[in-house]
Amino acid sequence: MTYKVVLLPGDGIGVEVTNAAVRVIKTVAESFNVSMEFNEQLIGGSSYEKYKNPLTDETLQACYDSDVVFLGAVGGPKWETLPHNLKPEAALLKLRKALGLYTNIRPAKIYNALIDASTLKKEVLEGTDFIVLRELTGGIYFGNPRGFDKDRGWNTMEYTREEVVRIAQMAFKLARMRRKKVTSVDKANVLDVSQFWRNIVHEVHKDFQDVELNDMYVDNCAMQIVRNPKQFDVLLTSNLFGDILSDIAGMITGSLGMLPSASIGNKYALYEPVHGSAPDIAGQGKANPIAAISSVAMMFNYSFQMQKAAEMIETAIEKVLVQGYRTADIISDGCKLVSTEQMAECVIENYHEIFNQQAIGVFTL
Ligand code: NAD
Repeated sequence: MTYKVVLLPGDGIGVEVTNAAVRVIKTVAESFNVSMEFNEQLIGGSSYEKYKNPLTDETLQACYDSDVVFLGAVGGPKWETLPHNLKPEAALLKLRKALGLYTNIRPAKIYNALIDASTLKKEVLEGTDFIVLRELTGGIYFGNPRGFDKDRGWNTMEYTREEVVRIAQMAFKLARMRRKKVTSVDKANVLDVSQFWRNIVHEVHKDFQDVELNDMYVDNCAMQIVRNPKQFDVLLTSNLFGDILSDIAGMITGSLGMLPSASIGNKYALYEPVHGSAPDIAGQGKANPIAAISSVAMMFNYSFQMQKAAEMIETAIEKVLVQGYRTADIISDGCKLVSTEQMAECVIENYHEIFNQQAIGVFTL
């Protein structure tokens, strides 16, 4: 079996963290005897520089022909004044839409070695491990009519049955791979579209009776993430609510350089760190590659169904942090400062060790 991986390093630190991610993909694939075929393409500002187009047909076609897409980051000050449709960020929105990536997954998992760096108390955070599953291609960001005039501004929050069914099914399926608990977030006490969302989620739940389902109002959910994040397993949200809640969830557990994500549709999947191209540190070897490497773990988990490999990557990251290696964004007293490449190297070394231990039967998580 050969997996076709399209690499879209993009701009700024996107290039550096993608290099780190590729090294990890190759290491893991080799250890499990899985073959990977890489196809690197331009996107964002780098594509605009060459083709005056941030997303070419060639890049899009490569993605259509792929099993998975890995993206670094796009954007930068150089392209900020371009018309909206030529901006690097427009390429990303177009790509997600073209690939039908209606599910966005962002984990909120605490690394024990970084627990003291959080703004929350250790005892509140310890054991936190949930995912925010956000509907990505519908809801108020895409609803019509929309607009504003001198006296009024308006948007439309709308969901179709099909849109809610497919995201709810995805949530229950993912919950089956985890602790089998879905919390569906809405504002059904005020919004009709939320009552509709809730009704459909409960209909879909009839086919997933082994998974526990709770409903929670979005305002309460925002409070609960900060008050008692351990209670959650899979948080199912619409586009707008997920946009906000995933940022809260991400920030309680770490820095921007640590946050991975996956965007998944029926046919395609795209993995990317949550952060942007970080022009302030680009090209200096300062970028934290852990968000990108953790996105690779999600790729092995969700796209290649290699849960063991994903766990081993995550364990390798955890071990590196316990050993005290830190990039500049997460450095603290007594820790060892490393570059992007060195951090990737540390993860790979630990991965090899964990893999070899597992081979002789002493691997524990
Ligand atoms: P950013 O995420 O690029 O950076 C915000 C801050 O976090 C910066 O100080 C940066 O140095 C730091 N940071 C981010 N990632 C880091 C990492 N891996 N290691 C260490 N430090 C890290 O956000 P921004 O500055 O608001 O945006 C810069 C550009 O990126 C803009 O053009 C923006 O539109 C774009 N952007 C792209 C994406 C994407 O491609 N998915 C996401 C967000 C922003």
